[in-house]
Parts: sequence; C-alpha cells; structure tokens
Amino acid sequence: TEPLLKVKGLKKYFPIKAGVIGRRVGDVKAVDDVSFEIMEGETLGIVGESGCGKSTTGRSIMRLIEPTAGEVYFEGKNVSTMSKEELRKARRDIQMVFQDPYASLNPRHNIQKILEEPLKVHGIGNDKERKEKVAKLLEIVGLSSYHASRYPHQFSGGQRQRIGIARALMTNPKLIIADEPVSALDVSIQAQVLNLMKDLQQELKLTYIFIAHDLGVVRHISDRVGVMYLGKMIEISESEALYEKPLHPYTQALLAAVPVPDPDFMRETQLLTGDIPSPANPPTGCAFHTRCPLKMEHCDQRVPLLIEVEPGHSVACHLYTEAFSNDNK
Ligand code: SF4
Ligand code: MG
Repeated sequence: TEPLLKVKGLKKYFPIKAGVIGRRVGDVKAVDDVSFEIMEGETLGIVGESGCGKSTTGRSIMRLIEPTAGEVYFEGKNVSTMSKEELRKARRDIQMVFQDPYASLNPRHNIQKILEEPLKVHGIGNDKERKEKVAKLLEIVGLSSYHASRYPHQFSGGQRQRIGIARALMTNPKLIIADEPVSALDVSIQAQVLNLMKDLQQELKLTYIFIAHDLGVVRHISDRVGVMYLGKMIEISESEALYEKPLHPYTQALLAAVPVPDPDFMRETQLLTGDIPSPANPPTGCAFHTRCPLKMEHCDQRVPLLIEVEPGHSVACHLYTEAFSNDNK
C-alpha cells in the first residue's frame, strides 16, 4: 500500500547575508536532503539536538516554511506543487501541535473561540455545530465543556497542551505533526499527555510525526524513529531495533544519555562530548566527525549516505557502508 506521507529530498536552506548591502555569502543548510515515508496509523519519532533541523522538517512538510527543494506527497498528491487553495484544503488533514501551547493560544480569546477558529477557516459547520464540536473535543482530551468559556491563562501547562491537541483535532485531520509537544511540561505531566496522544491515535486512527530532542520521550509512542544531525537524517529504523541495536555512533551516544531503569543494561558507548557545531559552518565529510569516538581517517572527507544496512534499518556512517558523496560542503 501507498504511504500516507512521502518526503523526498527535502531541503531548506536559509541564506547567510553579510555587510550593509546584505550580500549572500552562504547558506545554513537547516534541512539537507531528508527523505522518509510514513504509513497510515504509524508514528514516526524524529529526534535530535536543537538546531538539527527537526522542527524545520516538520514545518516544511505543511509549507508553513517554504522548502528550498524536494517533494512532499500526501495521499499520493504532491503538496509541493499545490496552489494556495489546494494547500488550504490539504491543511485540514495535516495539523500541528506545538511545544509551547501558551504562545500558540491567543490570550484574549476564550477556549470556544480558539477551538472553533480552524472550523471557521475551513468553513465547517454552523454556530451550533461548532459549539457541539468544541464540547466534544474538550471531553475527548480530558477537559469539560464548561471550560469553553475560560481563557488560556486559567489553565495549567498540561491543560493548555490538551487544548492545543483539541485544536489540532477540530478538522478531523489524518496526520498530526507534534513538535516537542511535551518538552515544556513537568515530567509527571509528560506521561499523561503522551498517554492521551496514544489513546487518541487508536480512537481516531491518527498518524503522527512526533518530534523530540530526547530518545526517551519518543520510545513508547513511536513505531519507527529517525535521528537527525545538522540537517541530515543519520539513522532511521523500527523503534525496537533502534533502541536495542543503535548503529550510528551519534544514536549510541544519545541513547547512553537516556536514563535506563535496568542496571544490567549497560552500554559500552561513551557519552556525547563537545558542542554541536554551528549549522552555518558544518564540519566537512561526516558532520559528526568532530564528536565521534569512532572517527576514521577518511571520515572528515567523505559524506556518508543513508543506506539500508539491515531490513528496515538505515544508517549514514562509514563503519557500515562504503557509500558516500563528494559533496563536501
Ligand atoms: Fe563517526 Fe566516521 Fe561514522 Fe561519522 S562516518 S559517525 S565520523 S565513524
Ligand atoms: Mg525545535
């Protein structure tokens, strides 16, 4: 069967300008040739440190940010070439949940107004139907219809994220792109929101892209996980294989940083050292070579390609594959 979403060679470059006339002197390659597919009902976790391009990837899919190159297919239709009107329609089916619900909820609007806005934008329902839909969604996310008359500041962080989720669900979307939806929440509340999202997925047959900076957060929600580093997807795999046998030294280091409850389960890998290099001036060859404990001689010259080395498990590292590109910038 066809994937629900197919991302092919996605790139987003931001120009670096210098001097008083703002001459373009280079590019920040925020997303650099990223490809992946998602089947209906699946959750793909996308993980990496800040600046790796995971949020830009999420936003480029919906063209909230216009990609520099590449194609996105949703239900077989090319999103990249859609007119404004076609894109507006497609956005009913693809919704986002953001990290900071407080910043994305208008403080001067009550919850009724906030939640019915997507319906109005898409011209769905009359006043009565919209009111019923808001009440229903509030119940579904574990709040109550009487909350509709309240304002964002009257809710806790966890409740606000429930409202953010309810808003994303108003148009009955198929795909939810959740960009660090629990990162701003207390750990105890994180689990509640994650469980809610899992339940909603079952109930409403949703497909998720779940973006996080920590492999621990996405572990129990993801069917597959992709790891990004400086704009590139460096490993992607079924969750089980990724957590049990991470291949890329960067993934291994990220996993070693996740607290493990089982003391017998010790990894022989080192913790990440050094800062993440500037995306404006990434290292040559394998961009991870400046931090890699297993760096080899040619690693700073050849860019490793993402290659499937075991069924369903792809990695971009010279330890596993000879494939490289000479695109050394
Ligand atoms: Fe390390 Fe080389 Fe693999 Fe990059 S390609 S992760 S530097 S071993
Ligand atoms: Mg981000």
